[in-house]
Amino acid sequence: MIREQYRPTDYIDFSDENNVESMLNALSRVKEKLGRTYNLKIGDQEITTEDTFTSFNPGNIDEVIGHFQKAGEREADMAIEAAFEAFKSWSGVSAEERADYLFKASDIMRDRRMELMAWMVYEVGKSWAEADGDVAETIDFLEFYGQEALRYAGRKEVVSFNGESPYMEYIPLGVGVIIPPWNFPFAITSGMATAAIVSGNTIVLKPSSDAPATAYQLVSIMEEVGLPPGVLNFLTGPGALAGEKLVRHPKTRFISFTGSMEVGLGINKAAAEMADGQVWIKRVVAEMGGKDAIIVDSEANLEEAAVGVVTSAFGYNGQKCSACSRLIVVEDVHEKLMKKVIEKTSALSLGDPADKANFMGPVINESSMRKIEKYVEIGKKEGELLIGGERGEGNGYYYKPTIFGGIDRRARLAQEEIFGPVLAVIKAKDFDDALDIANDTVFGLTGAVYTDNKDKWEKATREFHVGNLYLNRKCTGALVGVHPFGGFNMSGTDSKAGGADYLLLFQQAKSISVKL
Ligand code: NAD
Repeated sequence: MIREQYRPTDYIDFSDENNVESMLNALSRVKEKLGRTYNLKIGDQEITTEDTFTSFNPGNIDEVIGHFQKAGEREADMAIEAAFEAFKSWSGVSAEERADYLFKASDIMRDRRMELMAWMVYEVGKSWAEADGDVAETIDFLEFYGQEALRYAGRKEVVSFNGESPYMEYIPLGVGVIIPPWNFPFAITSGMATAAIVSGNTIVLKPSSDAPATAYQLVSIMEEVGLPPGVLNFLTGPGALAGEKLVRHPKTRFISFTGSMEVGLGINKAAAEMADGQVWIKRVVAEMGGKDAIIVDSEANLEEAAVGVVTSAFGYNGQKCSACSRLIVVEDVHEKLMKKVIEKTSALSLGDPADKANFMGPVINESSMRKIEKYVEIGKKEGELLIGGERGEGNGYYYKPTIFGGIDRRARLAQEEIFGPVLAVIKAKDFDDALDIANDTVFGLTGAVYTDNKDKWEKATREFHVGNLYLNRKCTGALVGVHPFGGFNMSGTDSKAGGADYLLLFQQAKSISVKL
């Protein structure tokens, strides 16, 4: 299949009434599909288990999204074995054929874009714009990785020497365990899964229990395009199952994880322990949390900076690994900037994300709500509550955008990932101090700097130690191919998802030489 050269998908224009109507129709269609029961998919079998669990709408907690099988050790073992079996043939399928499955799937996603968005509005409380971003990113991942797989395919030239004819080629690794988070339940899940598959591996996908219905949309589309059974095995169940059984299985060759630092470090440790019968070192790709900062300098356009801060801090309720959770302001402009930030924050609409008017929806679940409330209490001791600090209205986990001023750089609010709509504001003496504060964390995922001084851009480029640095732009919204994404230090293994190196993580290079 000949594809156009990759470029990121345009977002949907909801100032066009036709698009609004289509989205409302998609929301109605998906609502009718809520409440179904889904099975595990292992090899060519649909499997049910004794226990199930339920995915609820966080914006309307009485609404059931779907019921899912609770896999146990037996099913985990079956899934790895099925993937291991399928690897024997899938690893021999040409890159062109493998990429074609991704291209066909991305075409289907383009056709069903709004329906896929609607699943996320219901299951994880995304606003229309956030759901649009998620589906657009998914389409981009499939298109980009499909094209990348073609680039990696075939013989790679090396230096010819001494009458030999040498070359190198990339081959797949084996069975991968894919463990995504709930916050980009279509994009990250699909990106992680298809990158592994298109590189010739087979996988067991263990989705987050907060977003299994959205992950299922990928599984059913891949089935629709004819992906052979056993290549993508769908295993729903508790996170600990993934940690204990899938990660530790001797036939697991690699683990691709995106989620919190605590879980990621646990997986890294478990993967390092040799299991009986294991004949390789497991490869771990782990993308983890953040405590991302925006620096606003005295020489910045404060209006643009305020827009960037509010969007980065409260878009999807701060539930992005890239979200701005620390605002570091040079003291000369602190008062002026904060006035604008508070003004813009108070204008944000919070409520049912199915209503197009709402910028913010619910946070994901009860335990996230409690965690936010715990940190708000800590914040009241560590600083001054400037806005928010309480629940919003509605039959869901609504929490108002919250800002604390006067936070010390070492305070818990400045160090620990909350993953909710809570922004800590830290004053800096000058730009150098601001950079120093920004780096004073175990994380290193995204960061942004607002300044019009080009020397300061260069200094930030050299010294701000984050995987994704943005100058005069918000710190969220990485685009596939444009901003390869991944963090330093405790933010992960810097895999650079959506970048040219990403597929390398799921392959190994074989060097071959013929003596002529
Ligand atoms: P989480 O760590 O709680 O869960 C992530 C996944 O791990 C889920 O599928 C979960 O079921 C599974 N899991 C839970 N316990 C496990 C265990 N013991 N062993 C193996 N797997 C287990 O994270 P979350 O709440 O789903 O997502 C939010 C986190 O993800 C935040 O920390 C956020 O910063 C991070 N995140 C990072 C990136 C990135 O690219 N760096 C992107 C999105 C989210």
